[in-house]
Amino acid sequence: MRAYAVNLDADGQTEWVIALLAHYADGRGVWRTKYGQRVSLGILCDRLLASDHGSRACHGAHVYYAATLVLSANARSSVISDRTANALKAFVDDEVRRLRSTQNAEGLFPVPVASNRRAAGAATAFGYSSHTLEWLVLASAHVEVDDGMMERCAMRLLQEMLDYHDDQLRLNLCPVCHALSALSLLWKANAASTEAAP
Ligand SMILES: [Zn+2]
Repeated sequence: MRAYAVNLDADGQTEWVIALLAHYADGRGVWRTKYGQRVSLGILCDRLLASDHGSRACHGAHVYYAATLVLSANARSSVISDRTANALKAFVDDEVRRLRSTQNAEGLFPVPVASNRRAAGAATAFGYSSHTLEWLVLASAHVEVDDGMMERCAMRLLQEMLDYHDDQLRLNLCPVCHALSALSLLWKANAASTEAAP
């Protein structure tokens, strides 16, 4: 991780860098990369918030995933300033509201029309929704997320996967992996909240 922190290009795909640092490093401190860039998790988060999310991979879904990973890391041990934490929360909260207003009757979230079509992995409502549900479950620990919205999406993803033939599963491997990850996160979050109930 130390080698990675020094070698990383802070101008690269910020969401992947942040996800890695928030997940595997303690995320604290400020350091200099071999390119002379001054870097900290807070600096990277500011950059993430200022970026054009729609032009990012998978229609920006990984940007929100990275933001929620930082909020989770920050809840465990303070790694960013209160200002950055509040900005991340507002950023995630806005997107949750947007998703709530666009979820279709079947439970999926349509691919945002304004974003690019770069990543085939999230090019369909199934792919985009599987990415989205994954971070929504994590975000629900930090901002208000409607349980019914997540449940409708989870049920639809499950139904589509059950209806897939083997070759459809193979062709949709990336979205299916995200869907399975989202369902297992939802399962765990549900088990934890059931345990916590009196
Ligand atoms: Zn993706």
